[in-house]
Amino acid sequence: MNASAPPVIVWFRDDLRLSDHAALIAARDAGAHLICLYIYDDTHIRKHGHRPLGAAAQWWLANSLRALDADLKKLGQDLVLRRGEARTVLPQLAQETHAKTVFWIDSELPAEAARARDVAEALHKIGVEIHVSRSDLLAPPHSIRNKEGNGLRVFTPFWKRVRAQGEPPRPLPAIRKLPPPVASLKSDSLKEWQLKPTRPDWAGGLRKTWTPGEAGAHKRLHDFLDGAIKSYAEGRDFPGKDHASHLSPHLRFGEISPRQVFHAAHFAAEQHPALSRDVEKFLSELGWREFCRHLLFDHPDLHHRNLQSTFDDFPWRHDAKALRAWQRGRTGYPIVDAGMRELWHTGAMQNRVRMVTASFLVKHLLLDWREGEKWFWDTLVDADPGSNPGNWQWVAGCGADAAPYFRIFNPILQGEKFDPDGAYVARWVPELSRLPPPLIHKPWEATPMELAAAGVRLGENYPAPIVDHKDARERALAAYRKTRN
Ligand code: FAD
Repeated sequence: MNASAPPVIVWFRDDLRLSDHAALIAARDAGAHLICLYIYDDTHIRKHGHRPLGAAAQWWLANSLRALDADLKKLGQDLVLRRGEARTVLPQLAQETHAKTVFWIDSELPAEAARARDVAEALHKIGVEIHVSRSDLLAPPHSIRNKEGNGLRVFTPFWKRVRAQGEPPRPLPAIRKLPPPVASLKSDSLKEWQLKPTRPDWAGGLRKTWTPGEAGAHKRLHDFLDGAIKSYAEGRDFPGKDHASHLSPHLRFGEISPRQVFHAAHFAAEQHPALSRDVEKFLSELGWREFCRHLLFDHPDLHHRNLQSTFDDFPWRHDAKALRAWQRGRTGYPIVDAGMRELWHTGAMQNRVRMVTASFLVKHLLLDWREGEKWFWDTLVDADPGSNPGNWQWVAGCGADAAPYFRIFNPILQGEKFDPDGAYVARWVPELSRLPPPLIHKPWEATPMELAAAGVRLGENYPAPIVDHKDARERALAAYRKTRN
């Protein structure tokens, strides 16, 4: 290492890992003292669709930063924490340390890209060079365009185009050695940022469910590829079976890159050809993440503007009581309530149940999808600026490749089909756990004796349905028909 060379800075963003990190490798290769920096920018002007992190994601971030700092310390490095606008913090740090180059990984998230543009401009003014590595996406948005130069709005041709590009670049190796840090640099303490809840501390369920950080991400991936991937294609729809990878929050914060996941899954299929179908299905789900990110690239206001403007006059209802019942898992529809309680407790919800609960809000309750998106944004540990609004718009019917308007999930049939033994509902709605299937999915059809035997008192210890399924369905169909015409 050249100790007299000016130090270099790596700016970590949604890439909180040490492996497959091109910017960190390039910075290491500069052979000078190294500053690893994370900036908590909650002051950023709300433009380009920027949104402050929700509460569950803040919890995740705090833990992920702690894990990254511990991993860096093993290599003799430190994570420097600073709070403020990146375009001010980075030039200040460069001047304070006489650093002459800043490295980071590119991001196609509109808010992040705008932030990086501001930083680049500010650094340029003081003569500091920047070195930007390719973003984490499997395929950059500019590479998947139609003849008019627009992004694709239908998933299947989108994913075919991504796959036609061949395999994404191979992930880069993990860093084993880093140059030393700059001595005595001031860093905020994570505590000051108050990312974790204290009064009350509602994060007990999150702590039990998750291990944020790069090691936790790789453990999830390996456990998944060693076990749950088998029968993923069918099993992923069953919330009680746990065939999913649980990688979404790790991917959200870049503790693992989509390329690492892609290649590991591909390798598993090469080793065990019987897994090919499940692996293909899994990769296509990763493709949905990519699809949503490409949508966001073209529509930075995805979380508040309908992709289909015909929905701008949709007659959404205002009903604070119904919204609260949905948020708290007290709608009287067991599969919906189980999902909403799982979300509150663990910061996540299985995909099929996300679709059912979201559909219930927009179709059965006729409440604006943005209300649901906001709640998920605040409560999901994987709350993603592309996938959350992209999926909400898909469910509401106003988005890209959206579900047809007449597809209204029947929450009773969904429960019976995808939770046939009622284990999922029993776990999250324990007051119904002694009702046998299929009654556990429609307790109002149980006889007084059956209810008494199971200890269920409808309207007392478990709510009666807040809407009648058939009436709600008719009401939604009428509203959607009117909008379509
Ligand atoms: P797996 O089934 O193991 O899938 C692997 C990876 O593929 C996931 O980690 C995720 O990155 C991606 N993926 C899977 N399904 C989708 C999908 N439908 N859309 C986009 N990416 C997908 N996912 C988020 O990551 N963040 C969100 O904020 C989010 N909000 C959602 C809101 C609604 C209303 C709905 C219906 C879905 C939402 N999803 C979101 C998508 C999906 O439900 C989760 O990605 C998935 O449940 C995460 O679990 P997993 O990691 O075990 O998924």
